[in-house]
Amino acid sequence: MAARFVVGADGLHSTVARAVGAGLTVDLPSLTGVYYSYWSGCEGLGASFNVRAGRLILVWPTNDGQTCVYVGWPRLEFRAVRRDPATHFEAAVKLVPGLWEALVEGHREHRFVGTDDLPNCYRQSAGPGWALVGDAGHHKDPSTGMGMSDAFLAAGLLAEAINQGLAGIQPIDDATAEYQRRRDCLTANGFDLTLSTARLEGTTPRLESLYDNAVGHPDQISRIFGVLGGSIPLSALDTEALL
Ligand SMILES: Cc1cc2nc3c(=O)[nH]c(=O)nc-3n(C[C@H](O)[C@H](O)[C@H](O)COP(=O)(O)OP(=O)(O)OC[C@H]3O[C@@H](n4cnc5c(N)ncnc54)[C@H](O)[C@@H]3O)c2cc1C
Repeated sequence: MAARFVVGADGLHSTVARAVGAGLTVDLPSLTGVYYSYWSGCEGLGASFNVRAGRLILVWPTNDGQTCVYVGWPRLEFRAVRRDPATHFEAAVKLVPGLWEALVEGHREHRFVGTDDLPNCYRQSAGPGWALVGDAGHHKDPSTGMGMSDAFLAAGLLAEAINQGLAGIQPIDDATAEYQRRRDCLTANGFDLTLSTARLEGTTPRLESLYDNAVGHPDQISRIFGVLGGSIPLSALDTEALL
């Protein structure tokens, strides 16, 4: 039986995308390679985003009382990292004062998981009778942690578009073409921020100063997190007022 409409929500290496011949509209290679694992006994660490030149060290609490620790390296260094992930992981984590000591106090519950299959791309995501959503249609480096939020955003937009079509309000192919346009527009700021974060160039004195000056200013802190979460553009930060 033929389906009236097919949605490919099948991830970065989408079979549906291949089957319909969906081409890439933006095609930038992986910038980083990453390893991560999970520790118990480190609940006190909370969440942190630690930028060092050539390294990104992320820490966040997750389910079952475990803490996920993630390290990103420039992709060009990743071949060496792969030969001995544990040693490279330890060296990177030691760049954050106190972090390695806390992990040693705890217990690693999982093997190190790694990948450098992290392209930064947009794919044509709508065509006659089909659409792509989530990583199948748009994938980016995980250093800003926006993939899931953007996948949900796109799913909401696509559901709306398909409903428009099935309810006869608008031809479905027009509605899904508009879905792609809106998705691209709404994810553009986050994509730019992700590319600049994934270059792992470290923070500039200006950015350090922006963060320092935000201490004690909850509105400004909210705006910074809004930018990091991709919900507001970088230009919304009133940097001049703070520097
Ligand atoms: C290391 C790393 C860390 C990340 N950290 C974060 C983070 O902190 N926050 C965040 O928001 N995002 C993060 N992301 C990104 C996030 O994981 C993805 O953006 C998100 O999972 C995309 O969801 P999806 O449903 O589109 O694709 P996927 O999660 O890849 O799901 C696709 C599903 O389709 C299934 N599938 C594939 N082919 C078929 C088939 N032929 N038939 C049936 N099923 C099929 C797969 O098994 C899979 O279950 C991270 C990614 C990586 C790699």
